[in-house]
Amino acid sequence: MPISPSLKLTNTLTRAKEPFVPEDEANVRMYVCGPTVYDYAHIGNARPVVVFDVLFRLLRRLYGANHVTYVRNITDVDDKINARAAQEGVSIRDLTERTAAQFQADMHALGALDPSVEPRATEHIEDMKAMIETLVAGGHAYVAEGHVLFDVGSMADYGKLSGRSVEDMQAGARVEVAPYKKDPMDFVLWKPSKPGEPGWPSPCGIAGDGRPGWHIECSAMAARHLGQTFDIHGGGVDLVFPHHENEVAQSRCSHGTAVMARVWLHNGFLQVEGEKMSKSLGNFITVHELLEEEKLGGRTWPGAAIRLVLLMTQYRQPLDFTQKALEEAEGLLQKWDQLLARSGVTGRTDAEPPEELLAALCDDLNTPRAIAALHGLARAARGGDAAAAQGLADAIAFLGFDLAEVRARSEAAKAEAADPELAARVEALIAERNAARAARDWGEADRIRDALAAEGIVLKDTRDKATGTVETTWERAQ
Ligand code: AMP
Ligand code: ZN
Repeated sequence: MPISPSLKLTNTLTRAKEPFVPEDEANVRMYVCGPTVYDYAHIGNARPVVVFDVLFRLLRRLYGANHVTYVRNITDVDDKINARAAQEGVSIRDLTERTAAQFQADMHALGALDPSVEPRATEHIEDMKAMIETLVAGGHAYVAEGHVLFDVGSMADYGKLSGRSVEDMQAGARVEVAPYKKDPMDFVLWKPSKPGEPGWPSPCGIAGDGRPGWHIECSAMAARHLGQTFDIHGGGVDLVFPHHENEVAQSRCSHGTAVMARVWLHNGFLQVEGEKMSKSLGNFITVHELLEEEKLGGRTWPGAAIRLVLLMTQYRQPLDFTQKALEEAEGLLQKWDQLLARSGVTGRTDAEPPEELLAALCDDLNTPRAIAALHGLARAARGGDAAAAQGLADAIAFLGFDLAEVRARSEAAKAEAADPELAARVEALIAERNAARAARDWGEADRIRDALAAEGIVLKDTRDKATGTVETTWERAQ
């Protein structure tokens, strides 16, 4: 058994790159803040998912697949959800279920493994209420006008994670301050619900229904699934303050612990073509649009190429997501795929990944260095080194790149380039067949499929388990 390099991670809490030592090697525990489910995930939301998926894979390799618990929540109670459901005229439940399924499908397409637990906030309301009661009983929270507020003055080192003092925060605060707050920085644990808004019977003897604040959701779900303290807490750098600072305050003050998570990891922000992504600039892209709609560059992109672009930059650095980078990533994956096909090797997920790959990942998830290691293996494989070819295949499998999908897309593109008229005709017949199926005209749908089969063209249907949609691709019969 080769000796594993030791893992080092940059901890926001200590501002240092430190050796990672889990509390319990038999159960390494990680929490990452998940999506608020009211709309498609954008490419920035995909960054923490892919980054922490690589860390999850690495931890499973270092400690054993059964010795890592990864929790990524789904926030399904939030004001943005209420507003969107009202705007669309759908029920909150329909909106959150649909959006959560889309999120899962998109993240699978990017090669992300499912976390060990994916808890929903609405299934943990009792845990949140219990935590709020504990905070009030301990003098860390108070009731005011139907709200429960966390009292930041009750915690001596509030602000430690983000490195801000309460005085700095007050000076910098631009928020409108509710008159019932003792201190402008006090934050909401529970608030009253208006009629028509989701609500649950309130804690602390408050009359009427209410709903939790965002921060308490994560504190309660983390405690339920990982315990009062755990190893790693992750998310985007925008969450350090106030979300993570407030999670720390709630968890430490209710459990009486010195830390919530011992290691805090934050990914840098992603921009698109050098600019902050925004709807008004027209550069806002969802993962779904990249995968399924011809939005960027007038074409769709394989999930593995998107994943590779997200990993070409080390997670702490800002990342510029560009069409050029996607093209390069796709080209690189195609080259690797062809090289592996020529070498006659396939990736093994259960094999020991190459040492240089592990060394790079153990160095604070240095994915650019990991990709450089893959280039080195590819060079050696091209020179006839069979072990390097196998190492490259294993490294690609370990990092979660789906080369089969990259190949299928490039073959379809080649077929189209070779005979664009045929491609257009087949696509039109596929659309007719889909319409027939939607109208439950199975006879017509089968007739189209059989007519194409008679010409040597095979249709392949794949059903997306999460969304139930069927996608049809075609190829020439071998
Ligand atoms: P939200 O749904 O806004 O809470 O975001 C979900 C996750 O995506 C959080 O971890 C955010 O920090 C992260 N995130 C949002 N926008 C970006 C971005 N542009 N770049 C990187 N991460 C982001
Ligand atoms: Zn959170």
